[in-house]
Amino acid sequence: MYDFLLVGGGIVGLSVGMTLLEKHPGAKLAILEKEAGLAQHQTGHNSGVIHSGIYYKPGSYKARFAKAGNGSMRSFCEIHNIPHDICGKVIVATNEKEIPELAKLYERAFQNGLDAKWLSREELLEKEPYVNGLKGIYLPSTGIVDYQAVSHKMAEIIRDRGGEIVTNADVCAIDERTEIVTIETSTKSYSANFLVNCAGLYSDRIARLAGYHVDVKIFPFRGEYYALKQEKHHLVQNLIYPVPNPNFPFLGVHATRMINGEVEVGPNAVPGFKREAYSKTAFDWKDFYEIISFPGFWKLGLTYTKEGMDEMSRSISKKRFVENLQQLLPSIEEEDLISAPAGVRAQALQRDGSLIDDFFIVNGRRSIHVCNAPSPAATASLEIGKEITRRIATRVATD
Ligand SMILES: Cc1cc2nc3c(=O)[nH]c(=O)nc-3n(C[C@H](O)[C@H](O)[C@H](O)COP(=O)(O)OP(=O)(O)OC[C@H]3O[C@@H](n4cnc5c(N)ncnc54)[C@H](O)[C@@H]3O)c2cc1C
Repeated sequence: MYDFLLVGGGIVGLSVGMTLLEKHPGAKLAILEKEAGLAQHQTGHNSGVIHSGIYYKPGSYKARFAKAGNGSMRSFCEIHNIPHDICGKVIVATNEKEIPELAKLYERAFQNGLDAKWLSREELLEKEPYVNGLKGIYLPSTGIVDYQAVSHKMAEIIRDRGGEIVTNADVCAIDERTEIVTIETSTKSYSANFLVNCAGLYSDRIARLAGYHVDVKIFPFRGEYYALKQEKHHLVQNLIYPVPNPNFPFLGVHATRMINGEVEVGPNAVPGFKREAYSKTAFDWKDFYEIISFPGFWKLGLTYTKEGMDEMSRSISKKRFVENLQQLLPSIEEEDLISAPAGVRAQALQRDGSLIDDFFIVNGRRSIHVCNAPSPAATASLEIGKEITRRIATRVATD
């Protein structure tokens, strides 16, 4: 009998596990992960950016947890000697039309309590000499890290605190009763006082297995990347972001210096017809049927028809991808880019066709379900861990 069972060995599950064991020393806790290793999905396929929190609606979880998470992630890396670099980033307006939107972001930086600097064209070029930009914003607190390295350190701390991490444990049934939760995996059954669902791309299914009819569907958005050839790395000093399309919930294709020295451009945002749709042809009937039979899918399609078609054409045609990127970095040519592994975002979609913007955490009787933790959840992971630990403490206290 466990005190806590967690589903999902990505950065969110690991942070929750680590924080629970800090708050409840000696508790019996296990993390069940379906893969043979940890951090194999979103946590292992992202841009590796420690976000500052500029984009998010003031007061939202995302805004608060990204800002606090930026600080806690930096301290975690410092304490545990995890390579990271607080290199700062620029957001660039490439034409006059984007300047009002850039100005709104600058305003938002202050609403969210961030340090930000407005850059003239000359100041922008001092930071990023190869960028095409009229104006920019500089965010000094943004950085880079390898979130798989962070996750492995979290796993080590969990084991040191007596927690268990069970890999190859695909959770396939959950029975939540008044006094106990029982969980079946492909090989074994477990029981616990409390369950935390951090299953990323499968978090809605796990919530439903536990009997919660959360009215959202995880919609997989593949994000494709290209790596910039070594001899062109000088074109990108640090992190270069476009002004995001205010009608589209993603940040836009950006250029990122990674902590391993590579430079990547991406990710775009293309619908996947399989939850773990890492390739363009990935397809799964069950996932596909689930998506198309959800009314929100068709409404989403109508809302983002133009954006969706543009993204898909840039996914199919490298030439179109590069033409788009050249608005930001005109010196990059098609032959400078090599395909790199994609990531898949777990984005919760509602019945009315809207994408849930904020983190979405559902309280059950003996469970908590993290049903929307897309970017910046890696940055915010330590804060999400604290929030869930706090919610559990409140629930146990009122039991
Ligand atoms: C392309 C891309 C770029 C991004 N860039 C950034 C960035 O620069 N900065 C940032 O802060 N965030 C970024 N993010 C977001 C960030 O990566 C995620 O928000 C974060 O990793 C979510 O962590 P997680 O633990 O919730 O999910 P995951 O890492 O996906 O982990 C969920 C785990 O649950 C397991 N699981 C699922 N079902 C079951 C089951 N039935 N039984 C057992 N285990 C199960 C999975 O195998 C997986 O290991 C990006 C994401 C993507 C996709």
